Amino acid sequence: MPSCVVKWCRNHTDHHHKDSGITFHVFPQNPCRREQWVKAVQLERQENDWMPSKSSRICSIHFRDDDFYLSKKGFRMIKRVATPSCTVCI
Ligand SMILES: [Zn+2]
Repeated sequence: MPSCVVKWCRNHTDHHHKDSGITFHVFPQNPCRREQWVKAVQLERQENDWMPSKSSRICSIHFRDDDFYLSKKGFRMIKRVATPSCTVCI
């Protein structure tokens, strides 16, 4: 099962419940945005050569509330401009 790539984060997809409010987000396809996400994780993990795999996810606690929007179908989606800020890791 994929889990959040932030080192100290305890959120796993198999542990989270729908009503916990935590969502998991795959790395962006766009190379520029992807690099911002990778950099943030590398910094947090202190691993300069860390690279995401296909199953890598970052959970929603590493983003600000206003980085999200609700899709027409009611899914919580992340905005294109959002980058994780791992300083808020818990
Ligand atoms: Zn997390």
